[in-house]
Amino acid sequence: MSYRKKFVVEPGGKIHLDKIDPSFTGKHESHEKALPIIQEQVARMDKLQYLLYADGDQSLLVVLQALDAAGKDGVIRHLFSGMNPQGTSVFGFKQPSKDEAAHDFLWRAHLHTPGKGEVVIFNRSHYEDVLVVRVHKLAEKSVWSKRYDLINDFEKMLASNGTRILKFFLHISPDEQLARFKQRLDDPARNWKITDADYSERELWPKYIEAYEEALERTSTKIAPWYVIPANHKWFRDLAISEIIADTLDEMGLKLPPTHVNMDEIRNKYHDAEQKQKKQTKQVGKIDKVSQVKPESGYLLDCASDWTPEES
Ligand code: AMP
Ligand code: MG
Repeated sequence: MSYRKKFVVEPGGKIHLDKIDPSFTGKHESHEKALPIIQEQVARMDKLQYLLYADGDQSLLVVLQALDAAGKDGVIRHLFSGMNPQGTSVFGFKQPSKDEAAHDFLWRAHLHTPGKGEVVIFNRSHYEDVLVVRVHKLAEKSVWSKRYDLINDFEKMLASNGTRILKFFLHISPDEQLARFKQRLDDPARNWKITDADYSERELWPKYIEAYEEALERTSTKIAPWYVIPANHKWFRDLAISEIIADTLDEMGLKLPPTHVNMDEIRNKYHDAEQKQKKQTKQVGKIDKVSQVKPESGYLLDCASDWTPEES
């Protein structure tokens, strides 16, 4: 069964997060064995993003939500770093700025939704307004309880404008969170991730789960489904999410757009230019020193693959 089918929150259905095993890895035994599959899926994502950008008619919005230390940043780093930065961006939702708070809660989300041809990843999202806002009572129930319908309408509008929306809840267990907090304490390279709020938010775990369950139940729709991703194993989380994204992009019917020029005419123009260039090169002789530069670092070697090497 595909992970799109397995992990989707059925629209209109009920969800009990405590019945979903966050350590699930299915038939996959280890990171080592799953790695080639993840790599193949990430490569598919990259190719399809190229087509999405070239096609320029649709877009993709990926929403990542989770409790602290569940791996939102890791998903972005592992799965999206191969995509062309031209056409891909990440927007992180922090506490609203003064300007953002002065507008309706969807304003800042709408400002950052993808334009045609683009992929946008929301690291947290407009869902914070029915999660942290609800748990910390930052707004009255009469205010936040209306937001589920507003979110559904908003996402419906985005979808009708050509945006595919995929929403992922990264599901970890409290003991896995604690293990990751320990890593943050023990590893100096991770110390910067620690915040005062980590432990106070952890105390509110059951309240967050309650808020997540209602959000998942009320806003998982056919056009903007939620997926609950078992995320205790980082590699399995990456495997499942990359499969779901690649499969979704696959069925979007993306293709290279037709050229708008007369190819025969352009071929003739190229031929003329080539003849002219050959004549000029004969006259100038071998003064083209630039092409004799030998690349040294790996990065330059990559760039060098575009060069026509000089014969020695
Ligand atoms: P982080 O993702 O770790 O950088 O933290 C961002 C913080 O901003 C989290 O504690 C979020 O809960 C908080 N945040 C995001 N959106 C909102 C919101 N609409 N209202 C209040 N806090 C928010
Ligand atoms: Mg955090």
